[in-house]
Amino acid sequence: MSPKTVPPIVCVTLPHDSPPQKRYPVFMSAPDSLSHHSASLEGQPISYVVKRSQRARHIRLEIRAESGLVIVIPRRCPLNEIPRVLREKKRWILGKLERHRRNQSRRAQADPNTVLYLGRPCRVSVVSDHADGVSLDGNNLRVRLHNGSSRVVVLEQWYRGEAEKLIGARVAELSPVLGVTCRQVRVRTARTRWGSCSQKGNLNFNWKVIMAPESVIDYVIIHELAHLRQMNHSRRFWDLVQQHCPEWRAHKSWLQAHQTELSGVFLTEESQLPLC
Ligand SMILES: [Zn+2]
Repeated sequence: MSPKTVPPIVCVTLPHDSPPQKRYPVFMSAPDSLSHHSASLEGQPISYVVKRSQRARHIRLEIRAESGLVIVIPRRCPLNEIPRVLREKKRWILGKLERHRRNQSRRAQADPNTVLYLGRPCRVSVVSDHADGVSLDGNNLRVRLHNGSSRVVVLEQWYRGEAEKLIGARVAELSPVLGVTCRQVRVRTARTRWGSCSQKGNLNFNWKVIMAPESVIDYVIIHELAHLRQMNHSRRFWDLVQQHCPEWRAHKSWLQAHQTELSGVFLTEESQLPLC
């Protein structure tokens, strides 16, 4: 393959091993194939999975909770492209794999009965009751379950509701401070983002951010509101964030350091969520 036809490489991190989003009829394409490989990068042994994708247009590197490094390659891309990709992206790969290992061991050590709420570790206790519900008393989260309801589902609903209330209120308070108007605020499950901002002025937030301290949540909100004035990550954008959130670097680091807890042992898989 000549250098001109070499596809660009896209590096992403995913919250979990997600199934293909769309199924094709059998006659259109064979199922995406997976193969396991190993290599040495700067003297460090690594293993990775190659996924040949019917839909991929570029070579894409992903870090997934279960599989670690996954290299997604387009249907016709030759396998001998992979050593080049590993060489070119070795710093990204080694850095992400190191973080992945740390997160895996932290997740293994984590207490499944402790969850974060507004940055505080809260102890979860479950009792049977005549209706589902959650109440917070100090650092104790009491989950009431009715007749076989799922603790995960009930807790997640409560977290979502709390996230909607807090984020909605803070967006309303912070929007005039930044001199912006936001059309719509949605709190949802995002696969790859803590927050995002659309061209139309709609803001989306991942409900899991409610597990972070309020100062960190404010950073996420200010980050997205700042995008309403600067739809990029330029110097001007970061100056604006700095002006309204001087400790933004610390908050960004907090999100990175606590991503495993924020994804929630009791909820879903590990996630490594960047802001948009
Ligand atoms: Zn952004």
